[in-house]
Amino acid sequence: MKYLTLPCGETVPALGQGTWYLGDDPNTRATEIAALRTGIDLGLALIDTAEMYGGGRAERLVGEAIAGRRDEVLLVSKVLPSNAGFEAAIAACEASLERLGTDRLDLYLLHWQGDTPYEETVRAFQRLKSDGKIRHYGISNLDLQATQRFNRAGGHDMQVNQLLFNLNQRGIEWALLSWLQKAGIVTMAYSPFDGGRLIGSTELQHFAEARDMTAAQAALAWLLHQSEVMPIPKSAHPMRVEENAAATGIVLTADDLAELDSMFPAPESPEPLQIY
Ligand code: NDP
Repeated sequence: MKYLTLPCGETVPALGQGTWYLGDDPNTRATEIAALRTGIDLGLALIDTAEMYGGGRAERLVGEAIAGRRDEVLLVSKVLPSNAGFEAAIAACEASLERLGTDRLDLYLLHWQGDTPYEETVRAFQRLKSDGKIRHYGISNLDLQATQRFNRAGGHDMQVNQLLFNLNQRGIEWALLSWLQKAGIVTMAYSPFDGGRLIGSTELQHFAEARDMTAAQAALAWLLHQSEVMPIPKSAHPMRVEENAAATGIVLTADDLAELDSMFPAPESPEPLQIY
């Protein structure tokens, strides 16, 4: 497993696991839990979830998957902007902890920007930290200006910014990614398969087949090649999690990277931050 270092000095696995839409269907629950546990076994020990996912169902599923294994896992959850005020954020975090069956989160993120002043959210994060309910905090879906505002609002201890980033969605390469890299802040790349669309790309499939890998692995290997970037793919299937985990062993050559660049070019000019 490849590791990244957070600004606080802690190391984290460079490949994590997403959970959006997990826990929604009782019939697939056991397989989804097996998928998350397979990931933990293979070193994908960072699990990303959110109070929003399934209105708490994903957090409950994660709680079941990590029961008895809490210390092996780094847990990330997110607070909705509508809960980003001081008291609401503390209550939302406590509700997440309860659903997850744990006493602490490793990272707690503001899911996206709302109307609450960042100062208030930062104050809630700091209180949650001093109470031992979260270990670190961060942000998600904040563009460069908003990230800098969050920083100025006292949020300079942010450890990550979780952003849409994949071969189809490369807008953050214009300025945000390099700013985060210089600050040592880890970019958690969400929707690394563009929600599955990249895996269906004929071009990417041909690229991958010629190199004895799968399209999913090529998409992840490209992200893993970027500095300070942690993809968080979601799969409800243990075998796919195994396939995704194997991407950590792939090294793309300069020619491979150039070919991917020509197939999936970054935008030619700055564009507004893309969000799912
Ligand atoms: P992904 O880009 O991870 O794609 C998920 C899709 O790819 C699913 O349909 C999954 O199907 C499929 N898949 C996964 N592995 C394979 C494989 N090896 N072969 C074929 N198909 C595969 O999409 P997400 O949008 O789920 O993003 C990942 C995570 O990022 C989320 O789950 C969530 O935790 C986070 N996220 C955060 C956001 C934010 O605003 N901060 C927004 C969106 C996502 P199956 O499950 O059936 O295997």
